[in-house]
Amino acid sequence: MDISTALSALEALSSATSTSSSGPLNALIDDHFSNAKARIIAGEDAKVVITELQRAVGRSKKEVEKGLRGWYSALGNVGKAVDKAFPPNLGAISKAYEDPPLFSDREASLALDRVVIDSLGRRGLWEAVSAMEEETSLTYPSEKRDLSTELYHITTSISSNDLQPALKWCEANKAFLSSPPHPSALPYHLHRAVFKSLSDPAEAIVYARKHMMVYVPTQPVLKLITSCLYDNYTKKEKETKDGMDDVDMTGDGGDDTMREREDDEKNMEELVKMFKAEFCRRYQWPKEDPLEVAVDLGSRGGALNVIEKARRVMGEHLGHVRQWTDLPMEVPLPPSRRYHSVFVCPVSKEQATEQNPPKMLTCGHVIAQESFNRLLKGGRRSAKCPYCPVETSQSVAQRLYF
Ligand SMILES: [Zn+2]
Repeated sequence: MDISTALSALEALSSATSTSSSGPLNALIDDHFSNAKARIIAGEDAKVVITELQRAVGRSKKEVEKGLRGWYSALGNVGKAVDKAFPPNLGAISKAYEDPPLFSDREASLALDRVVIDSLGRRGLWEAVSAMEEETSLTYPSEKRDLSTELYHITTSISSNDLQPALKWCEANKAFLSSPPHPSALPYHLHRAVFKSLSDPAEAIVYARKHMMVYVPTQPVLKLITSCLYDNYTKKEKETKDGMDDVDMTGDGGDDTMREREDDEKNMEELVKMFKAEFCRRYQWPKEDPLEVAVDLGSRGGALNVIEKARRVMGEHLGHVRQWTDLPMEVPLPPSRRYHSVFVCPVSKEQATEQNPPKMLTCGHVIAQESFNRLLKGGRRSAKCPYCPVETSQSVAQRLYF
């Protein structure tokens, strides 16, 4: 089980009342006691009442124990997930790197602090940021703080179905969003979500006319408008049909609304992801939090485990860990975590250099500068991509850095 899955299972349990610590057991016992007391005062046989009280308390105890078992197993799962993600002897690894110890020189420790404070700021954990500022000589730049706050505000608004702040941002950054390498689909998807939330088809169509016609060349706007008419028709038809059969209505209708709600949540999650990506691109922030990437590669990615295993198994043969230039074993990483430090042009088969850097074309394909220049021969202003039919004009091709 993943750490985050294990943690959210534990969180779900802690918010469920049946398992919260002293509450239910005390309440149950109080209940049973006052009940028994009342019965005895009313003149019932004390012996019978007490026996029943004992039984009732026993039952309550068992119920609470059952809840606790769930707790312990969820807690155990978190522990197991942590053990699985991190090598069991992290201490041995950090020892292997001693002499000199890790982050002992000033520059390295400053770099580490900077990465940590950046990560905290990016998540909007301002209390932790100020604690870091107090403990180190670093300050988190105020422009970054403003941006981070803005990002947090907009993404939480999207999650709670308020798309207006995101749309306002898109409007303010219109020029950026429509610039190369590609016009962003974000504003269209935001408008689409607003469109879908309008239950009156006439109102929805007015909305689409006003805000979405500019996306007709690149997005299926007209199809969307037509589908809204069709969707509403089928929905209405279904309601009348269900109305005739009461049993069916409760079952089916409930399922549908639940599915719709789940779909909405998923859509909002997608929109948050899209928005974050554009926001980071706009301000040239790394797409992912660098600290998160590093920890993920070391733990779940398995790099630390590999280092430790190699050190243990091959020991002396490999010399000191610090002198390794390559990892002695392969670390299988998920595709999203594979990075390339070099670029080889698929046309010329030459490795890119400072003088012949990689260039991304409008379609997203990447070739070396010289290969692109060759395509532009004869004074042409634009060239067709060697891999797809999309044309790229000379000024639009973007330099990439590896
Ligand atoms: Zn292409």
